[in-house]
Amino acid sequence: MTVIHSASHAAARPASPALVDPFGRVIDYVRVSVTDRCDLRCTYCMLERQTFLPRSEILSLEELDRLCSAFVDLGTRRLRLTGGEPLVRKGFIDLVGNLSRHLRSGALDELTLTTNGTRLADHAEGLARAGVRRINVSLDTLDPDAYRRITRGGDLDRVMAGLAAARTAGLKVKINAVALKADNAGELAGMVRWAHAGGMDLTLIETMPLGEIEGDRTDQYLSLADVRADLERQWTLTPLTRRTGGPARYVRVEETGGVLGFITPMSHTFCETCNRVRVTCTGELFMCLGQDDKADLRTVLREHPADDSHLRSAIREAITRKPMGHDFRIERRGAAPAVARPMSMTGG
Ligand code: SAM
Ligand code: SF4
Repeated sequence: MTVIHSASHAAARPASPALVDPFGRVIDYVRVSVTDRCDLRCTYCMLERQTFLPRSEILSLEELDRLCSAFVDLGTRRLRLTGGEPLVRKGFIDLVGNLSRHLRSGALDELTLTTNGTRLADHAEGLARAGVRRINVSLDTLDPDAYRRITRGGDLDRVMAGLAAARTAGLKVKINAVALKADNAGELAGMVRWAHAGGMDLTLIETMPLGEIEGDRTDQYLSLADVRADLERQWTLTPLTRRTGGPARYVRVEETGGVLGFITPMSHTFCETCNRVRVTCTGELFMCLGQDDKADLRTVLREHPADDSHLRSAIREAITRKPMGHDFRIERRGAAPAVARPMSMTGG
């Protein structure tokens, strides 16, 4: 079997043999959701009256640390903490501070997070001090009214203050923007210009059929193939070879000098080089974002509070079940989501 290492796999070896799935893919990137809660209610992500899980079902900070550390022991080189909104989780900065021991030991190449930015003004400095170097900030529009509409009540000024704080703290920022036919199609080029002028890369994301939302996703879906064709009429986009093992493809915009990414899970297959798995805030390990098979790591964590060998075995076993790929479809109007759990649960 040919073993496929992702670009991020550095020379340092893990304590135990690396996680390799049945298709020879080395799994060295893990996204962990630390909460299902959020201070926003983005229309494509959550219901307006979203119900959240009882706290007892959510992993404690200590369990999250054990879980992340077990993955690091099994060769994870990149760890992304997400949610829900990670910065609404009490004690989150302490969790990051504790996990940064794996950066210092050289076991981990990167410890990062995805945030909506609303609380970044308070936490950017703490994140930088805890060892975070880069963050992804999700922002779909620069128009305060559209922002309030998309997020159902969010205040754009707070995100802008957060971005300024991130810059002051020396954090490198990538902006993630979901392309939405009705809400931001007309301003995507302007957002790219704005991000690049501020020294930030920007990645555009197609809406994915994850979770129940109000309304019909086909009304929001905007093909990034069309967006890209549009941008190519005004700019020179030079493809970059940069690969992250995920669905993103990158170009350099020659006119702005910045990097633009396209995440096109709907119109593109990216599964052959997939190097990642995701864990929900309840400790369910999903081997594929677009499939339902999972492993219950919370039970293992709670049944063996003092011995993580069981946890490592459970992770190894789950990786033997990682499927070749997903099967997202969005073209059927009014169709049920391909996967019932929302992105806020699996972690974006
Ligand atoms: N709350 C944080 C944030 O918004 O950055 C982290 C979690 S959020 C679920 C992670 C990313 O998933 C965000 O960039 C968000 O825009 C994206 N997302 C959520 N639901 C999505 C969907 N149905 N399709 C595509 N992207 C989605
Ligand atoms: Fe919250 Fe992020 Fe989902 Fe928006 S995309 S509702 S910010 S979890």
